[in-house]
Amino acid sequence: MKKNKINSARMPIYRDSGFELYNADLTSESFREETEHNREPENYIYSRYRNPTVVSAEEEIMKLEESRWALLTQSGMSAIDTSVSIFQHGIETKPWLFFSEIYGGSISFIESVLRKRRGIEIQYFTPENGSYNLNSLEKTITRLNPEFIYIEAVSNPMLIVADVPSIVKIAKRNGCRVILDNTFATPWLYKPLNDGVDIVIHSVTKYFSGHGNISAGVICGNDDSLMRAAIEYRKFVGHIMSPDDAYRLQTQIQTFNLRFGRQCENASKLAAFLNSNSEIERIWFPGLKQHESHSVAKKLFKSKGFGGMITFDLKGINKNEKKKKRDKFIKLVSDKIKLIPTLGDPCTILMPVESVWGVKYPEPGMIRLSVGFEEYSELEAVVSEALGKLAK
Ligand code: PLP
Repeated sequence: MKKNKINSARMPIYRDSGFELYNADLTSESFREETEHNREPENYIYSRYRNPTVVSAEEEIMKLEESRWALLTQSGMSAIDTSVSIFQHGIETKPWLFFSEIYGGSISFIESVLRKRRGIEIQYFTPENGSYNLNSLEKTITRLNPEFIYIEAVSNPMLIVADVPSIVKIAKRNGCRVILDNTFATPWLYKPLNDGVDIVIHSVTKYFSGHGNISAGVICGNDDSLMRAAIEYRKFVGHIMSPDDAYRLQTQIQTFNLRFGRQCENASKLAAFLNSNSEIERIWFPGLKQHESHSVAKKLFKSKGFGGMITFDLKGINKNEKKKKRDKFIKLVSDKIKLIPTLGDPCTILMPVESVWGVKYPEPGMIRLSVGFEEYSELEAVVSEALGKLAK
């Protein structure tokens, strides 16, 4: 049997927790090199530090985000933890400014861990009438002098698109870093590092892995010193992704552009269909002219699409009727469109907005769709039939 090189076209799964270092000299040399926190080491030491299968999957993401670094983590949350924690400097830590319209799990982490346990000074920046007021953002940054601002390119569930290039300019003018969660937009629509964002994170659980079968996250960047700090943090807290998941990601990600392109296409068609349906009271999709972010989305995403997410509110004379219609709709489509609390799956899935984000969005008729890459005509037929039955 060949000891090292098998003619596999892909990087195999290296499950070793520790790698063979043969002698004392190579051991010293490897540990010395380890202190440099390189992306790809000369010699692997221990899989919590770095792993060849993980490094190989990271290279696929670097190609997509056009970044010099990508560090895979066990979840989107561990990517978020890593991205913000490298800006914590004991009592010297300046305030951290988060946009209020970010993933609910991020808010819980910020409140329960960052504010309550770590004592970080947290501030939020809130949109006005569905968009971010850049003048008041500049005033907030000047007043607070934060370490960084943290934003999502496309927010959940109202799909507000942030004018990232303008936000970055404001941040840079004021000596402030920018961290951006690009999970909803993905590099297919937008590559934030090219506009000067310092760190991009993703929940890889969503579109990058794309099949609802991997939990992972990633931190991308071009700034060596920030990314070396991130690799060190990931190593100390043990946030690295498993080689098994990295292997599957490495293959699944090869179809990312195909899948996401189709998801955007299906979402645009379905949004247009819903927009003209008499059972729909309101629809939020950045591709529609009436959405507050339409012009920003056109500027940011060029003409590539508007993402795969749609939120809509069903018509009803009162909350009770809306709730009944929502429950009926969910039941009617359930064979084809399942209620699964995630997004980016191959087939369209849904979430009742009030059940999860009810404190902020108490409307019982609201449903969020993560549109899949199934055959569009079948998707529209299912939705159309269910909406048709709601009126009866
Ligand atoms: N960021 C966004 C925008 C998300 O929607 C999620 C999860 O839904 C996360 C981060 C967290 O990712 P994960 O669940 O992979 O930890």
